[in-house]
Amino acid sequence: MQDRLLQDGILLIISGPSGSGKGTVCKNLQPTEGFALSISMTTRTQRPGEVHGIDYIFCDKDQFRAVRDADGLLEHAMYGNNYYGTPVSYVNDQMRNGHTVVLEINVVGALQVKEKYPEAILIFLMPPTFSDLRHRLELRGTEDEAEIDRRFRRAWDEVAELPKYDYLVINDSVENAVNEIKLIVASEKLKPHRSNEKISHFHDNIENGE
Ligand code: 5GP
Repeated sequence: MQDRLLQDGILLIISGPSGSGKGTVCKNLQPTEGFALSISMTTRTQRPGEVHGIDYIFCDKDQFRAVRDADGLLEHAMYGNNYYGTPVSYVNDQMRNGHTVVLEINVVGALQVKEKYPEAILIFLMPPTFSDLRHRLELRGTEDEAEIDRRFRRAWDEVAELPKYDYLVINDSVENAVNEIKLIVASEKLKPHRSNEKISHFHDNIENGE
């Protein structure tokens, strides 16, 4: 991705422990408001109700490695025993069109992206308390007890990386979390390095003696 793309669009990364409600929050960031939700590739088993090509691009490990080795991924990480990765082509296309591309990815992937593209915005989403986290995982009912334990323990490691993020959003309600994310994006759009177009109008005015 060239730097120019990061001036046209915004790369927004949303991470947070499993059960923080990232999926629901991200689904409420609407295309009509300029958001484009990236669809990851994963080797994890499809859950009931998940749709291939909408929730994830489900694939086997060989298919995943082939895309990764052909430089087709912006970032990738292992979570549990599975690969997860962000296809680079969609991100490039949407950024070029000036959209705010949303990546819902884990901490390892988020930090990879931030290293390559420091202008990417990293948001960490947390429920109000840790016991909410466990409760939400149990309520979701998509993982067995052992997997819930593993995800809950991993949450502590993920929270330890919070200082590397740009913003913390507490998901006390989907509506509040979505509104705070929109506020973040609106203020980021006002940063001088994203205002080259406005500044070029100043230059035109000066050259025309206005
Ligand atoms: P789940 O199995 O619950 O759908 O996702 C497990 C973890 O993988 C979550 O933290 C989710 O945000 C993360 N994840 C989903 N897609 C990607 C991706 O493309 N890259 C990375 N690094 N993590 C991802």
